[in-house]
Amino acid sequence: MTSRSIRPGDSALAARLRREVRGEVLFDAASRGRYSTDASIYQIEPIGVVVPRTEEDALAAFRIAVDEGVPVLPRGGGTSQCGQTVGAALVIDHSKHLDRIVGFDKAERTAVVQPGVVLDQLNAYLKPHGLWYPVDVSTSAQATIGGMAGNNSCGSRSIRYGNMVHNVRGIDAVLPEGPEYAFGEVAADGRVEGPSGYRELVQKIRAIAAREAEEIEHCYPKLLRRVGGYNLDSVAQSPAFNMAHLLVGSEGTLAYSRRVHLNLSPLPKHKTLGVCHFPTFYKAMEAPQRIVALKPVAVELVDRTMIGLARNNPAFRATVDQAIKGDPDAILLVEFAGDDRDEQLRKLKQLTELMGDLGLPGTVVEITDAMLQRDVWEVRKAGLNIMMSMKGDGKPVSFIEDCAVPLEHLAEYTQRLTQVFEKHGTKGTWYAHASVGCLHVRPVLDMRKEGAAQMRAIAEEAAELVRQYKGAYSGEHGDGLVRSEWIAPFFGPKLTRAFGEIKDLFDPKGLMNPGKIVRPSKQDDRSLQAGLPDHPAQERARLERVGGIR
Ligand SMILES: Cc1cc2nc3c(=O)[nH]c(=O)nc-3n(C[C@H](O)[C@H](O)[C@H](O)COP(=O)(O)OP(=O)(O)OC[C@H]3O[C@@H](n4cnc5c(N)ncnc54)[C@H](O)[C@@H]3O)c2cc1C
Repeated sequence: MTSRSIRPGDSALAARLRREVRGEVLFDAASRGRYSTDASIYQIEPIGVVVPRTEEDALAAFRIAVDEGVPVLPRGGGTSQCGQTVGAALVIDHSKHLDRIVGFDKAERTAVVQPGVVLDQLNAYLKPHGLWYPVDVSTSAQATIGGMAGNNSCGSRSIRYGNMVHNVRGIDAVLPEGPEYAFGEVAADGRVEGPSGYRELVQKIRAIAAREAEEIEHCYPKLLRRVGGYNLDSVAQSPAFNMAHLLVGSEGTLAYSRRVHLNLSPLPKHKTLGVCHFPTFYKAMEAPQRIVALKPVAVELVDRTMIGLARNNPAFRATVDQAIKGDPDAILLVEFAGDDRDEQLRKLKQLTELMGDLGLPGTVVEITDAMLQRDVWEVRKAGLNIMMSMKGDGKPVSFIEDCAVPLEHLAEYTQRLTQVFEKHGTKGTWYAHASVGCLHVRPVLDMRKEGAAQMRAIAEEAAELVRQYKGAYSGEHGDGLVRSEWIAPFFGPKLTRAFGEIKDLFDPKGLMNPGKIVRPSKQDDRSLQAGLPDHPAQERARLERVGGIR
């Protein structure tokens, strides 16, 4: 391993990669600029980028980076919202060429894919077989299976199908120290298949989980939607567990995933959709705990601001006018799905009755037409884009966007968090996964002015609320740069140390996506944030303007 310091654009590293790897080696300033952002507020210039042609090329690039002592950042669609996909590292981008479905077993309902396969691409392949991969993230047209596994992503229908961790059966992954292992099931009797290094790793992880069993029981939120830290709880749950589940949600900090083995689900034959109208936001937030008893597949919130923005968008107006009557403060989209059509229609009627019991008779628009259902879901999926169309200097900023709380606290939590926003002179738009207590909200902040200070204050008060309700601070989007700092306060010192131990077992030199989950920076470290006057990229642009850099 070399010990020289390697800076962005390093020409010797680029030359070695060009000699030994087939694919694009992008070390020029424009490419580095392109890969310095994801969907977060952060901006970090990578050392360079490789777009490998084959799995062998990807592994060669990975091994060269490790040999040169350069951090590695695997990347799919780059749609992460927490800054986990930016870093001063060699970026390996799978989205262009590593997009093959390499195995499919219809009878067993399983598939094996390269990490760059995009969710929509996979589901288009599966549809004629009556199957789908049911972790239906809103970014299904861009999100790759490698990235979804990296983030432990969760879809709108997670109440029925679970998160990535519940739908990944194995991961073939390479450790920075060299070996490649097939991470998968570990039998209840402790038997582990595989090379001795893998067996040893499993025993060590099992020992950490056993040692921390009490902390795991005490500190992990008892919620479906929790994606913070490493999934050590899945190792501790029972003698039989799946080692791949430790890699799920590890944000590229432990190993490089070469192939992902997936469990598939049958496509439901019939769906119905109820659009429930509420006169107040609070009432909308009280309802999900009652609605989930009807066993819907999804319960998604859209609030007044988003309804207004969607109505003003010519692409969505006609759909909104068909599905939403009058001027509700919020709506819940409730979907039922299964093979028996009559059963789904019955459930829709039960939903209407339930809304009557809640004192809101005649407030459900029942949609059985498949095309209109699809159009309504398209509006919901475009939620973030619709919200970002908001005009003004301040923009909705993602940093407490996916906290999750138990359903019985949802109304009180959203009310108190709204008061926190008001106290800090701002407001938030609420939408998304009411079924599982994971709502998206972005306070509107002007990050060029007082926004950074407001962000810190709101983040701390939100954390306190989430803690009081025994919720999860990261309920969907991950930790990255924006939330890793909060792992210690939420998981406590013992589990934080255990996460550090796990990181060191997999990646003793700390080369895998450093600074995420373990040993993080502060969320409001201004040198990492895009668009700020004192960000290094702005400073460099300023120097270039005045002739300071040539
Ligand atoms: C508008 C919008 C809507 C969204 N909606 C949802 C939603 O509904 N549900 C949800 O869960 N998320 C959502 N997200 C977040 C994001 O889209 C998901 O997390 C998505 O699954 C990330 O996929 P990606 O391919 O873009 O991953 P990337 O951002 O490229 O990578 C994600 C992480 O995985 C790691 N990684 C990637 N490939 C590998 C590999 N081969 N080996 C090891 N590590 C790897 C990366 O290093 C990174 O840490 C949304 C984001 C946006 C911008």
